[in-house]
Amino acid sequence: MIKIKKNIPLIDQHDKDCLYAKKFGGNFIPETLKKPIDDLTQLFQKLRYDKQFLKQRDYYFDNYIGAPTPFIKLQNLTNHLEGAQIWAKVVSEANGGAHKIYNATVHCLIAKKAGKKYVVGDTGAGYAGKMLSMAAKKFDLKCKIFMGAKDMKRQKPNVDAMRKNGAQIVPVYSGNQTLVEAVSECMRYWVSNCDTTHMCVGSTVGPNIFVKICAWSTAQISRELKIQIKNVFKKIPPKIKLINCVGGGSSAMGFWNEFMDYSSKQIEFIGVEAGGPKNSKLHAAPLTNNAKIGILHGAKQYVMQNKEGQINETESISAGLDYPGISPLHCFLKDAKRARYTSATDEEALEAYQLVTKLEDISPSLEPSHAFAEAIKLAPKLSSSTIIIVNSCGDSLKDKFIIKKRLGNYIR
Ligand SMILES: *Cc1c(COP(=O)(O)O)cnc(C)c1O
Repeated sequence: MIKIKKNIPLIDQHDKDCLYAKKFGGNFIPETLKKPIDDLTQLFQKLRYDKQFLKQRDYYFDNYIGAPTPFIKLQNLTNHLEGAQIWAKVVSEANGGAHKIYNATVHCLIAKKAGKKYVVGDTGAGYAGKMLSMAAKKFDLKCKIFMGAKDMKRQKPNVDAMRKNGAQIVPVYSGNQTLVEAVSECMRYWVSNCDTTHMCVGSTVGPNIFVKICAWSTAQISRELKIQIKNVFKKIPPKIKLINCVGGGSSAMGFWNEFMDYSSKQIEFIGVEAGGPKNSKLHAAPLTNNAKIGILHGAKQYVMQNKEGQINETESISAGLDYPGISPLHCFLKDAKRARYTSATDEEALEAYQLVTKLEDISPSLEPSHAFAEAIKLAPKLSSSTIIIVNSCGDSLKDKFIIKKRLGNYIR
């Protein structure tokens, strides 16, 4: 039985090979990446306990990102479902419209401390790249984004946004011309330019140090939430369910981090993966479907793969969740039975989006709509003493065209 140690941050519960539970994560990287990764690991280890750096981080979280994001009750949805209370942490109110800005901001602050003038990053759907280009502009860093040529065509509005922020976009033509190749190309570039350049990975994935930095950055979400829950309920209520969508897993890690030491009976973590179109075999739900362990982007994890161990292509209405792997931290939480994972289909997410926007004044993007789908399934079976909190981690504006195509209209 795998155990999570109490009173030790989850991101530090790996062994000397950077493996969680001896089997997830690690640094499966080419020899040439070892030095820049060691340097970054040392720098981050110092900065995360440096009072001045923490003060700076908090300053930008408050005055650039706009912390804290709201914590609100969805009374109409609660009344409609006649069961558990439904609340939302509206992280989409953060500057940029999603949680990726926390990680991007911290990476830019680290780049400044390291004396680097350039930041590079990879992006699939374009949101990680968009947020990094935004933060780079704020902190006066030159930004280069690697993006698959196919993705550049599919995600043109985000490409335009990155260019508007002054970023240079490098199209990647190898392989399938999507995210997997963009990451490889970005790492290759970083190896040859690490003296001047800092690299950012957009979720809690990749070599261990990137998993750590990202989870440490998004933890802001649960730090705020814990205070907000205490303000509303006077104490931490006995039955809470924290529901979050999971792609790479950074928003969920951030949403759960401060509650890690509570029992799962008191605070249950529920991760919702992308089930893809109904009956699709190309779903992006490795934890729900007991995928095998493999290596993707330098880390061991449960990952969608074929019989030969080649990484599968996945399919989801939600670009942010369309990823064949999952953070090693979530693999750890699953095996330790601290979190429960399930999935919602494209159709269920769209239905949830419609119900939430019909009844409430928030407009979750298609990623958190997966989490709302699970909340809508669960709530009627529970009593009002259970508090369901959904992380509404992104705003639907970015999904305007997809929603219009699927539902015929878009109302925000
Ligand atoms: C990128 C993205 C996700 C998925 O990434 P995680 O690392 O799992 O959080 C989810 N929601 C939104 C709004 C995103 O932009």
